[in-house]
Amino acid sequence: MIGQTVRQILKSLPDHVILEAAAKTRTADEVQTAIDAGIKIIGYNYVQEAERIFEIIGNQAQWHSIGHLQKNKVKRAVNLFDMIETVDSLKLAELIDQNCREIGKIMPVLIEVNSGEESNKTGVLPTEVEPLVEKISRLKNIKISGLMTMGPFSADPEDSRPSFKVTKQIFDFLNKSAILNVEMKYLSMGMSNSYKTAIEEGANIIRLGTILFGERRKR
Ligand SMILES: *Cc1c(COP(=O)(O)O)cnc(C)c1O
Repeated sequence: MIGQTVRQILKSLPDHVILEAAAKTRTADEVQTAIDAGIKIIGYNYVQEAERIFEIIGNQAQWHSIGHLQKNKVKRAVNLFDMIETVDSLKLAELIDQNCREIGKIMPVLIEVNSGEESNKTGVLPTEVEPLVEKISRLKNIKISGLMTMGPFSADPEDSRPSFKVTKQIFDFLNKSAILNVEMKYLSMGMSNSYKTAIEEGANIIRLGTILFGERRKR
């Protein structure tokens, strides 16, 4: 089932769109099946869970951090992940930078935008993205490579469209600004119920869980 779904969705996507599997709560077997069907990026919300699955799967895929990263997990996160999609403060960026310097790594990161301006959400507010990007761009062991956003939780993908539009506008603006050491390459937005809308609005990474693996198990 998982393999068939992954292949079907991969076939339906435009060439420039990368399908990332959001794998929280899934078993190593399920993740392996997705990889065998063509998934190249695995996204995890928790470092510990990612480490456990990584032990089994290893470097068959790229590993992305897509959850809110706790500061005391940064050291382990930079060891494991190939990209951190959820940078939303200078403090967190500095910690990533420091820990990467110690192991001689340059970490590609995305800036997480709180595009719906929801008070209970992680991410930086749209107006604060550029000043934050400027500051982070000076850190040597971080490479800003694009933006990520969640958008509102809603069954109706149209509710997410304004958030996707705002994030794309910032993406284009930063692209034109051509800040040194900043590359606007990836725009990560869209989940199972909203990925088609996200692609229409310019996403080139979509993060899918439920539609690939089925309903999530309770932890
Ligand atoms: C769980 C999760 C997804 C995928 O959500 P689905 O609705 O299951 O497709 C995408 N992005 C993040 C950050 C997530 O935590």
